[in-house]
Formats: sequence, structure tokens, C-alpha cells
Amino acid sequence: MKPRVREDKDETARCPFCKLFLRSPEEIKTVSGGFIGGRCECGAVYVCDPTGHNVGEAYVDALAYAYGEDWAGFGSLKADEGYREAVFNYDLRTNRLWEVKDIRRDYSAKIIFVKVGSK
Ligand SMILES: [Zn+2]
Repeated sequence: MKPRVREDKDETARCPFCKLFLRSPEEIKTVSGGFIGGRCECGAVYVCDPTGHNVGEAYVDALAYAYGEDWAGFGSLKADEGYREAVFNYDLRTNRLWEVKDIRRDYSAKIIFVKVGSK
């Protein structure tokens, strides 16, 4: 019988754009209330949805935060100033993320990343 080795895959949350380790999300206040998230050194922002049910809202928060709550700028966004996004399952307690299998059925907590610009 082989000893059960705990598979310590490196799942500690990293930014999907620059691969830096993520700082634990914190509460961020905005004009519209607030959310749990943060900003990476590369400029990407991330927002947590601890329920997994409000990914859409979290997404809007992330975009608003990414654009500095500049809704006017957001509205007049040009195609070539687009943004990239990524969504993962996320465990806020352990700061780990992993791939979402089926976003319509998977109601684990989520983390949404948005990075403005195409580079
Ligand atoms: Zn980053």
C-alpha cells in the first residue's frame, strides 16, 4: 500500500495574466457599495463572488474597478482598448483557485479577473 501523499499542487492563487501570487482579497469600497477583491501589480483587478451566484455583478464590479469607476470611459470604450477576463473557482479562506468546469452549474465561490488593454 502506497502512503497517501497529499498532492500539494500549486493552486495558490496567482494572477492569470502575470502569474504573480495574488494578495488576499480585501474589502474595497466603491460608490455603489463595495466588493471583495483587489488589484494585481500588473494592473489586473479581481473581484470575489463568495456565493457563486452573482458572477454577473462581480463582473460589473471588476470592470468598474478596472476602469477606475469611470463609467463614462467604460461606456465609450473602443474595441482596441478592450480588456481580458478570466473566471475561476476560488476559496477565499485558503486563497486557492482552480478551473471552472461549467459556469452555469458550478456554484462554488468565484473570482473574476479583468485586465484592461490587450497586452
Ligand atoms: Zn497580475
